Amino acid sequence: MEFTLIVAFALFGTAIGSFLNVCIDRLPVGKSLLYPPSHCDTCQHRLSPKDLIPVFSYLWLRRRCRYCQAPIPWRPFWVEVGSGCLFAFIYWHYGLSVEFAVTAFYGSLFLVLGVIDLEHQLILNKIVYPAIVVALIIDVFSPPPGIFDFSLSWPWLGIVNGVIGGAIGFAFLFIPALIYRQGMGWGDVKMAGLIGLVTGSRLVLVALLMAVILGGLVGVTLLLLKIKKRKEVIPFGPFLSLATIATLLWGSDILNWYLGLFQF
Ligand SMILES: [Zn+2]
Repeated sequence: MEFTLIVAFALFGTAIGSFLNVCIDRLPVGKSLLYPPSHCDTCQHRLSPKDLIPVFSYLWLRRRCRYCQAPIPWRPFWVEVGSGCLFAFIYWHYGLSVEFAVTAFYGSLFLVLGVIDLEHQLILNKIVYPAIVVALIIDVFSPPPGIFDFSLSWPWLGIVNGVIGGAIGFAFLFIPALIYRQGMGWGDVKMAGLIGLVTGSRLVLVALLMAVILGGLVGVTLLLLKIKKRKEVIPFGPFLSLATIATLLWGSDILNWYLGLFQF
């Protein structure tokens, strides 16, 4: 039964992933999410339901348009697979609970933010600003872990913990963004503020430090392998996204492990 449910949530996740692909394709270029319906970008042929089965249509059609044979890029496929794995894993981790819903929502949000930044070097205000409002509302009903652990006694303290986290996140990237202009933009700073609202004041630095370490490791590797040149910009948003999702799943474990290193 449990296994069946995990598979069901994986399939549900791939369907969500196919909507996230629409967001990733259309939001950066200012197109509507609802209209026009899905179509091939090359021949404009409208896609039928059998062309839109997540993951399977790609494999079945060998990543080509059924109508004009134009190749379809890999990204939509990986977003669907990634989203399917994420949903299955979040369900396995949290069961059917408020945490599941909250983490699945934030996972989808940060997947979209991260992939758009990867493709366009852009963190969109029109995603970040509404997400800040939604995160504040979620903070009331599902308080993030705070420095002060009294969130349950008074629901609004969830917001206080979130806002303190947001302020810490914003401040943490504010100075680097002032100094290191090309690598980090205001989009990253605002996204760090959002991450603080999402992860709460207790875990925001876990997320941001993990992003810095991940970004540093990948950056150095790309330079050493000569895939990227020194002057080329490596967007930071994908690392912020990955680290935030990891923190939502394991943040407290990571923090406790880290603090345990200093206990004798
Ligand atoms: Zn086509």
